[in-house]
Amino acid sequence: MELIESKSIFSPATGFIKRGGFEWTCNPYIGCTYGCAYCYAAFLPQAKRPPEEWGRWLTAKKNAAALAERQARKVAGQAVYLSSVTDPYQPAERSLMLTRGILEALVEHQPRLTVQTRGPLVVRDIDVLQQFRSVRVNVSVPTDSDEVRKQFEPKAPPLEKRWAALRELRAAGISVGVCVTPTLPIADVEAFANLLAEFRPDVLVCQDFHDAGGGFGADTGDAALAIRKELQWTAAKYRKFVDRLRRDQHVYEGEAGFFPPPQVEPAAAPGLFDGVA
Ligand code: SF4
Repeated sequence: MELIESKSIFSPATGFIKRGGFEWTCNPYIGCTYGCAYCYAAFLPQAKRPPEEWGRWLTAKKNAAALAERQARKVAGQAVYLSSVTDPYQPAERSLMLTRGILEALVEHQPRLTVQTRGPLVVRDIDVLQQFRSVRVNVSVPTDSDEVRKQFEPKAPPLEKRWAALRELRAAGISVGVCVTPTLPIADVEAFANLLAEFRPDVLVCQDFHDAGGGFGADTGDAALAIRKELQWTAAKYRKFVDRLRRDQHVYEGEAGFFPPPQVEPAAAPGLFDGVA
């Protein structure tokens, strides 16, 4: 792992993140050791190495927390997406605590914060997350099958740990999103639909694979498309799955599911007579 001194930690949002209403992105790391086969970030200019090496390198912005301390004022009250091209709770975060340092710096400035992760380590920071008035944690749960998960993202945490994290976040009063994105082959549509209906996330997002033939920055890698074909998962099966989910709850699809949590005004200061019986 390479450690670097970065110049800034908040970048103006671009692409679908900007279209979703975010003003800023925040990436404490470059690269991601989860190395999911379908990761679009592997194809973006921010990735410093060829897509074939995605998942095998990581650069950490060692001054991320200090930068956030200095720069958090400029994102005050605005919509911040953490993170767009890495996972803020990948294994290195356990010891480096860059994401935690950024959160601590942001609290005072109360951005509308979205945390996007598949790392159950996010529960470590519940105490800080609870201090944001407007926050949502999106957890990626792209399938119901750990066997399928292992084929696409063998280095990422087991699904049950992600569900445990989601339950813990919710119990702590934090708004949660479940991102079934990209929607990987589903082993038991009915059982998964029931699980999602029972949990009822604040936001539920699905997204089919997309294949732009390499002609567009964010694309699904060939390796992921090959696994999908081998498992005989098709666009028609995806459509049936989404239709089934919609019998129970609202389902956003694709970009439409990535938007900031609503603005929450600070609680009014106690009035002169408040609390007087
Ligand atoms: S966790 Fe996210 S950023 Fe990391 S490889 Fe997987 S999809 Fe890409």
